[in-house]
Parts: sequence; structure tokens; C-alpha cells
Amino acid sequence: MTQTITVIRGDGIGPEIMDATLYVLDALKTGLSYEDADAGMVALEKHGDLLPQATLDSIRKNGVALKSPLTTPVGEGFSSINVALRRHFDLYANVRPAKSFPNTKSRFPDGVDLITVRENTEGAYIGEGQSISDDGETALLTQKITRKGSERIVRYAFELARKTGRKKVTVVHKANILKSTSGLFLKVAREVAALYPDIQCNEMIVDNTCMQLVMRPEQFDIIVTTNLFGDIISDLCAGLVGGLGLAPGANIGVDAAIFEAVHGSAPDIAGKGVANPCALLLGAAQMLDHLGQPDKAERLRAAIIATLEAKDSLTPDLGGSGNTMSFAKAIASRV
Ligand code: NAD
Repeated sequence: MTQTITVIRGDGIGPEIMDATLYVLDALKTGLSYEDADAGMVALEKHGDLLPQATLDSIRKNGVALKSPLTTPVGEGFSSINVALRRHFDLYANVRPAKSFPNTKSRFPDGVDLITVRENTEGAYIGEGQSISDDGETALLTQKITRKGSERIVRYAFELARKTGRKKVTVVHKANILKSTSGLFLKVAREVAALYPDIQCNEMIVDNTCMQLVMRPEQFDIIVTTNLFGDIISDLCAGLVGGLGLAPGANIGVDAAIFEAVHGSAPDIAGKGVANPCALLLGAAQMLDHLGQPDKAERLRAAIIATLEAKDSLTPDLGGSGNTMSFAKAIASRV
């Protein structure tokens, strides 16, 4: 049976990098069929809604979406469409690989190949319990960490280690100071880790983790952590491997999963045809893994690496003089 995925072409450079990505997926002969759905500014203009019900229905039906970046209008009362999507589908695991690629601006050309697994639904980002006193002098924020939320994200990280043949999970926390919230997360993580004797587990305090990542990133394999720490660490890791142009991300829940590039809609280069499609392509590779096509995912990653090695048609952000589509064609020719 043909698997259908929801395709959200998004805003800014979104349609350009999605065209490029689907071109490469077609060359891979994935057998996927695509159902277009709108979100972001384009949806607001067409349907009067940033996140139309039809889009939510499409993702619910297909269970998998490939999404280009969306522009969130400033001051519209909508904090972020991406956050709304994560909440709506309870996409609890944010999975962000960071890998050094040849001929990119990575500070560690050979040394980085790690995955950050960030809890996506709890902690400081739930938007509850935020208040400022009437005199504007005191602000409060409530953080909620649950056993259930901690357990499912840590399990996800260990299962991912097993599935991908990775050997070590580092639990990142601040339980020495945040004794209740980070303390509960660490306690549950230790319990879960005991169920996976085949995977090495170590614990690291978040501030030390940041230093260690910058000095010796090769010591990390999979990092699992709570929402706020994961947000910061995963961007730090993107920086280690040369920035956002090569950073994909997956948002995984029980009933749905959304795969994307980490970067935004890049309005400064939209419409010029020069956006680097690699981040969305690498998000598509994560999607193929998720869909049970790991051989195609590997071929896609290998084709990207080979194209970077050959410096064939690279986009200007990578120092080349190619464009989005010529880069995609160079990759497609190697899949
Ligand atoms: P951005 O990531 O869009 O751009 C930052 C810089 O990186 C820009 O100079 C841009 O040209 C460059 N860049 C980004 N992606 C690139 C690519 N593929 N190839 C080459 N260069 C690339 O960040 P921003 O400017 O802060 O945000 C723009 C809009 O994107 C905002 O509306 C923001 O809300 C939205 N955004 C969406 C997502 C998402 O949908 N996942 C994520 C982040 C930001």
C-alpha cells in the first residue's frame, strides 16, 4: 500500500527547499505520495487561519508530515505555529542529529556525530504559571516535570540508541540545584537506564555539558534532556557542525511525527533560489528511517556527503555558486 505523507510547503524559502527535497525523494523512488496542506502565512492568506483544521486533519490521517519553515507573525497572539503543532499532536520527542559534514564550516570536521533528544512538552516551556506582579517588579514561572513525561523521553533515547547502534546515552540535568524538577527527571532516567544494560549511561550537569560539548564533542553519542536545556544544547550542537543549514529535526509523538529543517523561513533570501536544501533533506532522511526505509535514508545521507565532498553545485552559504535546484539535482544524481 502506498504511504501518503502530509507536505507543508511553508513560507519564505519553504516552497523552494520543499521542491528540491521532493525532487530528490522522487529520485530515491521512495514510493511515497504527497498530500499538500497549508500552514503559516500562506495559510493565513488563503484560509484566514495560520493553522487550518484541514491541515491538522491531514497530519492526523497520515501520521507523518514533512514541513518547511513557517513564518510566525509578530504580535498576533499566536506564540508559534510549531509549538501549537507539537502541543496538538503531543509530539513529545524532539530529535536533532548534529553531524560534521565535509567542506562545511564545522569547527570539528571529523569529530561530531551526536543526537540530542529533547523533551518537547514539559518543563519551562509549557506556558503555564507565568505571571508578573501588578507593580511589574516580580515575575514568576512554573515548571512542571512528570514521571510519565520523563520516562517516555528517556525510553525514547535508549530505544533510539538500540535502533541506531549507538552505545552511550548522556542524561543532562541540573538536579544539584533544581532538586524537585530536574531531580525527578534524573531519578526516573536512572530507573529507565537500568532497563538497558547494553547501553552505557552517564549523567552530566547542563553547564558542564556545554563546556564539554565545545571542548570534546566526540565524547557524546546521544544526549537526553528536558525542554529548556534541550533547546539550548541542540542549537549549540548545530553551531558545532557549521550552523543551521545542515540541521534537521524530528518531532515525534505516538500518533504523529513531523520532520523539518531547524532553520526558519529566511525571508532575506526567499524567492532567490539560493537556499540550501540540505537541512530539509536530512529531515526527510529522518522521516525515511521513521517510515521503515532506513536503506533509502542512508542512501540519501551518503549522496549529500558525496555531493559536499565533490563541492558539486553547492549553494552560496556553503561557499559554492550553485542554487537550490542545481544542488538538489547534484544530490539526486548520487542517490
Ligand atoms: P532563519 O533561520 O530564517 O534565518 C537566519 C539566517 O540564516 C538568515 O540569514 C537566512 O538567510 C539564513 N538561512 C536560514 N536557512 C537557510 C538555508 N536553508 N540556506 C541558506 N541560508 C539560510 O531565522 P530568522 O530570520 O530568525 O527567522 C525567520 C522566520 O522564520 C521568522 O518568522 C521565524 O518565526 C521563523 N522560524 C520558523 C521556524 C520553523 O518553522 N521551524 C524555525 C525558526 C524560525
